[in-house]
Amino acid sequence: MNICVVGTGYVGLVTGACFAEFGVNVTCVDKDTAKIRQLREGKVPIYEPGLGDLVAKGIRAGRLRFIDDLAEGVRSSLVLFIAVGTPPLGDGSTDLRYVDEVAEAIARHLDGYKLVVTKSTVPVGTGRRIREIIARTRRENVEFDVAANPEFLREGAAIEDFLRPNRVVIGAESPQAVAILKDLYRPLYLLETPFVLTDVPTAELIKYAANAFLATKISFINELARLAEALGVDVHQVAVAMGLDNRIGKKFLHPGPGFGGSCFPKDLSALAQLGREHDVALGVVEAALAANGRQRAWAVEKIEAAAGGVAGKAVGVLGLAFKPNTDDIREAPAMAIVGELRARGARVRAYDPEAMPRAREFFADLDCRADAYAVAEGADALVVVTEWNEFRNLDLERLRGLMAHPVLVDLRNVYDPAKARALGFAYHGVGRP
Ligand code: NAD
Repeated sequence: MNICVVGTGYVGLVTGACFAEFGVNVTCVDKDTAKIRQLREGKVPIYEPGLGDLVAKGIRAGRLRFIDDLAEGVRSSLVLFIAVGTPPLGDGSTDLRYVDEVAEAIARHLDGYKLVVTKSTVPVGTGRRIREIIARTRRENVEFDVAANPEFLREGAAIEDFLRPNRVVIGAESPQAVAILKDLYRPLYLLETPFVLTDVPTAELIKYAANAFLATKISFINELARLAEALGVDVHQVAVAMGLDNRIGKKFLHPGPGFGGSCFPKDLSALAQLGREHDVALGVVEAALAANGRQRAWAVEKIEAAAGGVAGKAVGVLGLAFKPNTDDIREAPAMAIVGELRARGARVRAYDPEAMPRAREFFADLDCRADAYAVAEGADALVVVTEWNEFRNLDLERLRGLMAHPVLVDLRNVYDPAKARALGFAYHGVGRP
């Protein structure tokens, strides 16, 4: 089968490379010509473990190609995945301009039956919107279908998630569309992957529901962490015991500086906005978002209190990406914390294994250092914001020796408080006595 993936970002590139791995012929299209040039040379513009090898393999096998000409992508493919960005607008609703742009361009080049599939996270009703755009823009009366196939991959583990997903959701309303998508995902039947077949709006809502639920779990444990701290209780013991209940599950019960990334904040805002549009109060979603805002502010206050005021102080930040194993800094708690610390007069220095080039696009003068020890040199406080593996086992004695004041704010609870304190640190974790 020949397919086209429009948008070669974190989702589109993984989708393209993984379908090529399934044996499908994939044309990846992006309007960013510099990105396409890089990809053609086998250079992957983002950090995602394993992606470089998979892209190289696809290119070598002749099943993966990169072009900037959508017309050619449409002509040569039966299935057209839309995997462009769906960023938030000021009111929290979704900016669908890239989706619309692609739908119109697809329509102009439609030359026979095609199945158009949204991989992007799009509000309920977008499938219908795409159908209308294509219906009024197409030149001839060619047939087409629109389906929704939301993506649940996690950055940092995207390949594994795509190749071995917990489930595949297919929202499609014609037997032909269902048959094509089932055929495309056939390799996953061997792994007994559950398939959820729905209509298009249901599939669209499933994605928001899943993200909102996960983010709510995080906000819940973050609030409990603050209560635990006030009560002198260890939130980790609470979380472990909660998680052992199968109805709850142990994932997403780790307290920290709040959720971030390109999905949770925007998807929750979009869902809340959708609720408002339909006059349905989504109080839980709104509360999860509000709690997240408070958690971020609380993290900054914690650093401020631990350092005895940050104005004029050298504060070291470990981790800038919104989570480990990615270079994605969109809505990263670390970026918000760095911005706030700088606004309060702190001299921030930072290190992240992968995200420093992107962080410099926002803070051009950010003092980026070579490693955690260089960050600690002369620092008045050191803050672990993103739990990269390389921050889990630092030589604390060496760190302490390098710092002007041994203040460790561990926003991911990667260190044992007793051990850190025994080594002379003023240690501050999240929700631990
Ligand atoms: P991204 O910003 O990394 O990539 C989007 C790409 O689309 C860019 O390369 C951009 O140049 C390209 N693009 C925009 N307009 C285009 C056009 N008209 N023609 C061709 N290319 C165009 O975004 P992303 O993180 O990959 O997210 C894409 C979608 O997937 C979003 O809706 C997001 O919510 C959803 N999603 C993301 C994740 C994630 O972890 N990043 C997970 C699941 C779902």
